[in-house]
Amino acid sequence: MIEAVAELGKFLVEGKSKTSSKTCDGDFSNNISSFLTPVESDKVLLICLEQKQSGFEYCGVEPQNPLESRAQFYLFSQGAKGGGTNFSPACILTKPKTKRDMTQDEVKQAIRENVENVFEKKVENWFSNKALPLAKKLSKQGDISDKDALFIQSISQAVENNREKIINHVSDHIFSEFEKLKSSVLLTFLIDGKYIGEYEIFKRFLLELIKEKAEKSSSQDKTCCICKQKRENVSGTVNVFKFYTIDKPGFIKGGFSSENAWKNFPVCSSCQIHLSEGRKFLEQNLQFKFYNFKYLLIPKLLFSTSAAYSEVLNILQNTQKEIRLGEKTLDKITDDENEILETLSTFNDSISVTFLFMVPQMGAERIVLMIEDVFPSHLKNIFDAKRHTEKKFRKLFDNPDIVFTFQQIKHFFSKSNRLRKKSDLDSYFLEITESIFKKKPIDFQFLLTHFCRRLQDSIANNDFFDFYNSCSYAMQILEFLNSLKILKLKGDECGMSVETPFDEILNEFPVASKNPAVKGIILVGALCDMLLRIQSAGLKKAPGRMPPFAKNLKGLRLKQADIISLLPKIENKLMEYSAFGKAKKLVAATASELLLKAPADWKLSSDEVSFYFACGMNLGQKIRDLAKKLTNDLDETEAEE
Ligand SMILES: [Zn+2]
Repeated sequence: MIEAVAELGKFLVEGKSKTSSKTCDGDFSNNISSFLTPVESDKVLLICLEQKQSGFEYCGVEPQNPLESRAQFYLFSQGAKGGGTNFSPACILTKPKTKRDMTQDEVKQAIRENVENVFEKKVENWFSNKALPLAKKLSKQGDISDKDALFIQSISQAVENNREKIINHVSDHIFSEFEKLKSSVLLTFLIDGKYIGEYEIFKRFLLELIKEKAEKSSSQDKTCCICKQKRENVSGTVNVFKFYTIDKPGFIKGGFSSENAWKNFPVCSSCQIHLSEGRKFLEQNLQFKFYNFKYLLIPKLLFSTSAAYSEVLNILQNTQKEIRLGEKTLDKITDDENEILETLSTFNDSISVTFLFMVPQMGAERIVLMIEDVFPSHLKNIFDAKRHTEKKFRKLFDNPDIVFTFQQIKHFFSKSNRLRKKSDLDSYFLEITESIFKKKPIDFQFLLTHFCRRLQDSIANNDFFDFYNSCSYAMQILEFLNSLKILKLKGDECGMSVETPFDEILNEFPVASKNPAVKGIILVGALCDMLLRIQSAGLKKAPGRMPPFAKNLKGLRLKQADIISLLPKIENKLMEYSAFGKAKKLVAATASELLLKAPADWKLSSDEVSFYFACGMNLGQKIRDLAKKLTNDLDETEAEE
């Protein structure tokens, strides 16, 4: 992946140097965001300085709630952990640990000691050991103006003169907010009403210090991992992409277990520039939305000539432009209106793409999933499976509006409980996404657990509409995955297939064609649907609510014995309503025959029994129509119609 980004950056840099005189260094300094550390503090404290005739004057500290959009202004870029300075004077004050039996004065004392310690190491030392020598060096070389050098000097002077006051004010503030404070405070500066990130000189210094550090830690004549050449100034750290584990260690897929993976990834300075350029271009041109995430689409060319790059990038950019202007509509499998994957699916396999999925974090994007080397031919398979699924379900449910996207999958893999505020199943959602793009098998049993959870939830919440909707979604997902040939079944779906009059519907079901019990359960479910619809027609006051008979479904936690006892119960109820005509009798008789032919032990889990039953309910109307046709039961009129 990293090579593909560098390759792209190289193409862009070379293209630019041909068309303009802009140097790489210029581009390098524009792109500061990749060097900033995400802010995770719950408060920002600004040390305010104002220019007066005699120099800068300290005018107190100002608290603020951190804003993601201001991360560039806070200019926090962590250097070495512990005693070393950061790349700017912005630093983190961690909430000191206190013991229960400490008096207020002791707490106050602990805070002050902590503030003084951090202030000395991260703020004072930054000015005295880094900024002042750097200002001297750069102004001597004529790289910065005397005015800028003087600016840094007088700020440094103001910090020194007001040391005690600043430490006291910051400590007092932390003490007064101590109970509310969760983790830490970010300390930074406001100079003449502007953040330090608004001053070119602070940004310049940040980049200079990073360069200095990279040069120091670099070894001479080491091989660069990207261009594979022995170069001077090969640095040990790559700052361009930050990987992040979402909820369990090692979640990041595709070969990188943690941020540490990059530590031993030496890159030369020109490849660093290519990487930054490549990333910047991707963020501006090939970044897309994916539900709660975003992804970068990184093209990798088999023959990476500049002509090939121009062509590919042109097509991708033009496609997006045409979509925005409404000149083109593409099929989509995600929730991004500007998705261009269908266009990619028409390319040949001399190109591949890498998906970098990210979550937005304060000041930076963190990568949670990388899917490398997805080929256009596989994207085409995905679109074919999507179209196949849509075609089948549009016909099955007489609904031309059915569209299959990752939304159906997201429906089951968002929140484990409807009361939850945030989604807690993101990691599963990403895992399935990866399986689809990489053609890896997905276990049917695993899906079943989540399908059943959602279906049980709809029943528990009396939500008839969500129940049928979820059921259709689940069936579409199975059809889609089966069509992509990545649905992993139990493997015991062999044995005699019992023929039934309803096979034109039942045999179409991707997971159920051979076990007679499965067909039987589906038909019992279908009969139950017919009953529930009769009952719900009598419940006109509360549409969408579960009808009374639904209480026999045990919250959709059904076992073999439940199905066997449900069938006569449903038959009795139908007779009570005088609605057990020829068509329904055929369904009931077929179900009963199938259950008799099934082995004594069905060997089906409760999730399986419940899910097949739910699918039967969802197919109820379809099966009823077929039964009517088969029995010529055309006059059967029912309350529901
Ligand atoms: Zn290199």
